[in-house]
Amino acid sequence: MAEVEGSCHCGAVHFTAAYAPTDINDCQCDHCQKRGVLWAYYTPKDVTVTGAGSSYVWGHEHTRFHFCTVCGCTTHWTAVDPKRDRMAINARLLPREAVAGASVRKSPGPR
Ligand SMILES: [Zn+2]
Repeated sequence: MAEVEGSCHCGAVHFTAAYAPTDINDCQCDHCQKRGVLWAYYTPKDVTVTGAGSSYVWGHEHTRFHFCTVCGCTTHWTAVDPKRDRMAINARLLPREAVAGASVRKSPGPR
């Protein structure tokens, strides 16, 4: 499968994923709804992120949410525990054609 590339609105944070997502999660938790994100999940070895952003950790502290400090777009999340082999990119920052074939589900998110 072909790589896909995305970036925040201003372009300061850029990422490349090894393949286009086939499944996207429209997480229904309050936090993700306020951010307006759609998550595409990967293992960290399949994603390269460049550029300077900041991050935010809250609640259960399992997940670090990254965002661009210039334009504010949420770009991705990473696991706080480096042994956890999972991360997600914000599929809203991918080209529309890269996500056109993906199914979208609505998970309730963490409680
Ligand atoms: Zn930006």
